[in-house]
Amino acid sequence: MNIVLIGMRGSGKTAVGKILAQRLGRELIEMDELIVQKAGKSIPEIVAQHGWEKFRDLEAEITAGVTKRDNTVIATGGGVVVSSPNITKLKQNGLVVWLTASVDTLLNRIGDDESRPLLKGKTRREDIEITLAERQPLYQKAADITIDTEGKTPEAVAETIAKTEICCIIGDPVEHSLSPSIHNAAYKALGLNYTYITLHTSDIEQAIANIRTNGLRGASVTTPHKVSVLKYLDQIDPTAQKIGAVNTIVNDNGVLTGYNTDGIGALKALEEATDLDGKKVVLIGAGGAALAIAAALKKKKVNLVILNRTGAKAKELATKVGAENAASLDKISLVAEADILINATTVGMTPKTAETPVPQEFLHPRLTVFDIVYNPKETRLLQEARESGGNIVYGYKMLLHQAAAQFQLFTGHPAPLKVIESTLIKALGGG
Ligand code: NAP
Repeated sequence: MNIVLIGMRGSGKTAVGKILAQRLGRELIEMDELIVQKAGKSIPEIVAQHGWEKFRDLEAEITAGVTKRDNTVIATGGGVVVSSPNITKLKQNGLVVWLTASVDTLLNRIGDDESRPLLKGKTRREDIEITLAERQPLYQKAADITIDTEGKTPEAVAETIAKTEICCIIGDPVEHSLSPSIHNAAYKALGLNYTYITLHTSDIEQAIANIRTNGLRGASVTTPHKVSVLKYLDQIDPTAQKIGAVNTIVNDNGVLTGYNTDGIGALKALEEATDLDGKKVVLIGAGGAALAIAAALKKKKVNLVILNRTGAKAKELATKVGAENAASLDKISLVAEADILINATTVGMTPKTAETPVPQEFLHPRLTVFDIVYNPKETRLLQEARESGGNIVYGYKMLLHQAAAQFQLFTGHPAPLKVIESTLIKALGGG
């Protein structure tokens, strides 16, 4: 993984980059230098003779080349963020660090460099002010870490970057994951020098090698890698071993341990709403989530019935976890005798929000209904359970508690639950 420094001219990308590269034993790549080499001209000459468009074309070519490299420090040109394809490429295998400074400081650091063409303004100050205002949202969007360099030496900034603990989510696809927002909000709330980035890859072996070589602190693992990842880890915790799937990796000085926090998350969500001791639980579903939940439930004194569209899979899961009973959905009327109902199927999920896995006639006021589908927040099943006088548990609560358990494994600190919850609710569309 590369470390990519972005920011305005004068923000310290080169000075910090040199120190950081030396400290980490990496090569420093200065993108503007490569552009000058490729064109055989200085930047003012390129712009004067061919315009900024030609400069940006050269920058795109150089970006494509440097993003194929690994384990480097890349000092970008100030305008690299103007092109979103460039940023997408740099982020694919890069931690993007935005160095900020005030206009006065930028001006001070640049000095009277008459050779650099003005981009927008009539004076150097005006030029910086207008350019900064335009680029600020782009820098912000691109950045995994933001460091205010004001009043700091390049050595101090480089040290902060070198000491940042990095966690990530590995998956394919992964762009729509809520985990980066959740974890980064929690790090910020506790003032931890941690960042959480996205690692979109279909190659789990390469992703694990990346964690090892770059000393990443931890990772969340999502579809399709939760099972295939096991063979690349050094240790598997007993819960994840029993489930046969890992959703969390912790790197302790090079030793990678796999955990599964899905079951813990579901259990915590349920226990906030009801006691489990001696309860009759109907769990619908026999996929990955159902397996994690069933294994967690069987650590409690519950009577567990597993129902699934494919009855044979329900029976297989029941045998694996030691559930009391299993059947196909023909036996859905068993819900009428249950204390707790858990939907761990995809039924009711956006866009098919009119669907429900249980006819309303079987819902009743003594029933606690937990629908692990979290999009939409209030599924048809939960609406009908509420109408029937029952207690309801939202699916996002499982997400909240599984993320909190991951946070604690990564940082050693209890998670700020309220911060994670409000971030989640906002990301899921409020309400
Ligand atoms: P999965 O492994 O693909 O399992 C899907 C399950 O849904 C299977 O039991 C499948 O039954 C059943 N199913 C699919 N379509 C159905 C239909 N039309 N009628 C009846 N049953 C149907 O998926 P998963 O990873 O377990 O995830 C299941 C759901 O949980 C998803 O909606 C996911 O978003 C959600 N989830 C939520 C959280 C959370 O934190 N809240 C965490 C993980 C997952 P068959 O075996 O018959 O195919």
